[in-house]
Amino acid sequence: MNGDILFINLTDGLSWVENRRELVDKCIGGSGLAINLLNELCPDGVDPFAPENPIILASGSFIGLYPACSKTIAMFKSPLTGNLGESHAGGKLGAAIRLAGYEAVVIIGASSKLVWIDIRDNGGVKVNGASSLKKMGGLNTIMALSESSSCGLQSIVAIGPAGENFVYYANVLVDGYNFFGRTGLGAVMGAKNLKAVRITGGGEISVKNLDAYKRVFEKIYEEVVKSGKMRKYHDLGTPQNVLTLNQIKALPTMNFKLGYFDYAEQISGEYFADNLLTRKNTCPLCPIGCKHVVILRSFFADEHEVESIEVGYDYEPIYALGSNLGVGNPMDVLKLRAVCDRYGLDAMMTGTMLAWATEAYEKGLIGLDETMVEPKWGNAEKYIEMIKHIMTMPNEFYLSMAQGKPYKNLGEEFLVAIGGNGLAGYHTGLAFIIGTAIGARHSHLSNAGYSLDQKLLGSTINPVNAVEALLKEETWRCVLECCGVCLFARDVYDKHMVLEALNTIGFNYDGESLEKIGRVAYGLKYKFKFKEGFKFQNLKIPKRIFETATANGIISPEDVKKALTVAEAKIKEIVKEATAQ
Ligand code: SF4
Repeated sequence: MNGDILFINLTDGLSWVENRRELVDKCIGGSGLAINLLNELCPDGVDPFAPENPIILASGSFIGLYPACSKTIAMFKSPLTGNLGESHAGGKLGAAIRLAGYEAVVIIGASSKLVWIDIRDNGGVKVNGASSLKKMGGLNTIMALSESSSCGLQSIVAIGPAGENFVYYANVLVDGYNFFGRTGLGAVMGAKNLKAVRITGGGEISVKNLDAYKRVFEKIYEEVVKSGKMRKYHDLGTPQNVLTLNQIKALPTMNFKLGYFDYAEQISGEYFADNLLTRKNTCPLCPIGCKHVVILRSFFADEHEVESIEVGYDYEPIYALGSNLGVGNPMDVLKLRAVCDRYGLDAMMTGTMLAWATEAYEKGLIGLDETMVEPKWGNAEKYIEMIKHIMTMPNEFYLSMAQGKPYKNLGEEFLVAIGGNGLAGYHTGLAFIIGTAIGARHSHLSNAGYSLDQKLLGSTINPVNAVEALLKEETWRCVLECCGVCLFARDVYDKHMVLEALNTIGFNYDGESLEKIGRVAYGLKYKFKFKEGFKFQNLKIPKRIFETATANGIISPEDVKKALTVAEAKIKEIVKEATAQ
């Protein structure tokens, strides 16, 4: 790791490089590096749409070197959560950043007109006008900017019209199949008038002891392809979860009113793979290829005017736009996903808002004056119209939908979001809810509470023990995020393997110091959250969560309250420890 960070100021178009080798040595890279930079650079109380809100894209130390390590970390202040914005994306971005000679790219300021940034190695940064890309979808933007003759590895990130319109959960497309999906990075890019970033890395990542590196690489590669630990992701991919969760009554259905969906078979990983799958895609240096892709044909005018587009499918969008909206036709799920992708919307949060709106309409809290379209469980065509309105915000109701808030606070007890972020598709039990609540980015991936629920299926979960286990898991996951390890490969990269891989490329840690790096990264994330006004006492858990039986029965509000009290004290200790570093 050379320690070079590339800074670009969109206000005046200037760029410069700062060497932070010392910081990288201390935190490994990835999320550790990103959160240190965010705490340094983000002014207190900044408006997420202000030019001063920095966007940090940090690569991890294993990216470009070891198998199944591709996750670039984005950090910024989020318009959706009001505090930490954190999102992870696979694809070529992290490797391109490193091959261009940097550990991270930091974008500050804002342009007065729509632009895209071209970054090349050897300090080449150019800010170009993007008026011809205005309102273009992410995929078309990427196609317009890709250079087939480029020398080096090229990665392009782009926003769609939702980002340009500041929808609070606008996402960012990365290389066509990957997303910075959560917490609204697309809107922050939109506020900077930044349509896309293209980065081309033609350099190399040097490794001193090549023989030792090759040995470790082969060992990891064998584990990835032969141990069976990642088979699920290659074969059916994450949609394998649909039937498993439905069986234990944990598949959120119709706004979490049920944990079981009658049409689960039709939107299962098995159905998609047997009937619709057209190809798989992968990240650089990953033999898994977990990205499952379908070609979707659609007719858009008379005389058989047809277009064919590739749509990726994975578990979360299937739950959010399928079972949770009562949509049981797989082609309809794909159409909804394609519309979200075209506009550049986080499919999960879009599903959360549509599910809330359908129930609010059903209960008579809102009417056609607000929705303009009749929302109906299972009716994808109506939902597609509503998604277009979320993107264009024709009235106050859709403005509120685009901000991820219940209109006039109506029905907030069944808006299924925690900390501003729509819930992932696991109604498994207490640990999932605690995990999402205490997760620094309120994501199921922070600490996998759903997995703990499934391990303890049928037994009573002690809230205090759950907090212990989830904090341990999340601080360890922070270590993996510093390295750039894809969390799908978390069973391959155990502590022993991470230490061996790190020490081979020049970091000298032992088990204790490694764990400390994870705790510090997590503590610094919470330091940022607290600084920006996050308070556990204000964290609302929607009543709906306590009404519908989970795979582990009804969740008790007292258990959640107890867990959050214990967690808050422990997290404050971790913040203190991290701040003292
Ligand atoms: S498992 Fe999937 S997301 Fe993870 S690195 Fe491999 S291809 Fe990328």
